[in-house]
Formats: sequence, structure tokens, C-alpha cells
Amino acid sequence: MPFTDKDFINRLKKHFPQPWIDLNFENPYQLIVATILAAQTTDKKVNEITPQFFKKFPTPEDVAKAPLQEIEETIKSVNFYRRKAKLIKECCTALVERYGGKVPDSIEELTKLPGVGRKTANVILVNAFNKPAVVVDTHVKRVSQRFNLTNSNNPDIIERDLAQFFQKEDWEYISKAMVLFGRYVCKAKKPDCGNCHLIDICPLKNQQREGKDG
Ligand code: SF4
Repeated sequence: MPFTDKDFINRLKKHFPQPWIDLNFENPYQLIVATILAAQTTDKKVNEITPQFFKKFPTPEDVAKAPLQEIEETIKSVNFYRRKAKLIKECCTALVERYGGKVPDSIEELTKLPGVGRKTANVILVNAFNKPAVVVDTHVKRVSQRFNLTNSNNPDIIERDLAQFFQKEDWEYISKAMVLFGRYVCKAKKPDCGNCHLIDICPLKNQQREGKDG
């Protein structure tokens, strides 16, 4: 590798000294619901409907006992709302039945919840519990591949590769900042190479510039 983990992180910190998550939430329960809603939907759209959702359903118990139709009605402006309503209800029912309404804070338990895959579980661990975990979403996947941090397409293998390359103490930062870097700078279609602080270590810089100029 022509650069170290710290070379990468130090440059990333110039873009995102204090990375954030675009989904609004106040507790782990709210983040689980928001993350389920965010599948194939923009975070902005999710943020528009969650205040009303959490006013109506302040706790997992409220969701668990609500008729499915009422949940559907509350989220019907997001796509796949029927499927998402079902998953949210099943997830909250499991939270109530298995954990007394409290969101667990381990990957093993989180991934047993309906609607919670490995990516969502890692999002919860990092953002709601500030625990070390590596989030691999579409942005992290693309950035990792562009920097040759992985040669896999499989999110589980990418997660393992990143966990090996970066130190555990940096996983939380990397998980938050790489998502933002991929979303706002190293974008899928038109990466903003002209404003990129990682350009000196980017294996694609010449290619991207040619693409831009051409
Ligand atoms: S130089 Fe361009 S392609 Fe390389 S990391 Fe930066 S934005 Fe992405």
C-alpha cells in the first residue's frame, strides 16, 4: 500500500474533522427505525417523516402494539412503505419481547432483529453507542475500491479488509467519515477531485482528471 492508514485518516480529517450522520435521531430506537426507513430512500426524506413518526410512536412498545395499517399510514410517503412498516413492527415487537424494549448493543444481537442486517447493525453500534465497528455502505464500498483497500465486492469481506487496515480506535471515525466522503466528495458519477484533500494518495487521480477534462 503506497500510503498508511494514518495518511488516509489525516487527509480525511481535513474534510470531516467531526463527522456526523445525516439521519436525525435521539436514541438507539429512533436510529433503528430511521435506518430501516432509509433503505433506497434519501436521508432527507426520512428526516421529513420521522418527527411525526416518533411523536406518534415514542417507544418500541408503541409500535409493537399499533395496527400495521396505522404504521403504514404514517410512513406512506417513503418508497416500499408497506414492507418497511412490516419490518419496523416486527423489529419493535422483537425489541419488546426479547429485550424489554431496549436496543441491544452487540452485533450478534442486533443482527438477529428483523430488518437489521450487518450494515444497519454497524450503523447503530457506531452512531448510537459510539462503539468500534466498520460500516460498509455503497459509498464506503466505492471509496475502498478506488483506494485499493479491498479487491472485493462483498460488503462482509470489505468490512474485514477495512478492519484490518485501520486500527480499532479509528473504526468509529472511519465509518462516519468515509460515508460522508463518498457522498459529498468522492461521488459515484462526478468525484470532486479539484477539492479533494486525498488527491495526492489517490490511485485514480489521473484517470479522474482525464475523465473530467475529456
Ligand atoms: S482525487 Fe477524486 S477520485 Fe480520488 S479520492 Fe479524491 S475525489 Fe475521489
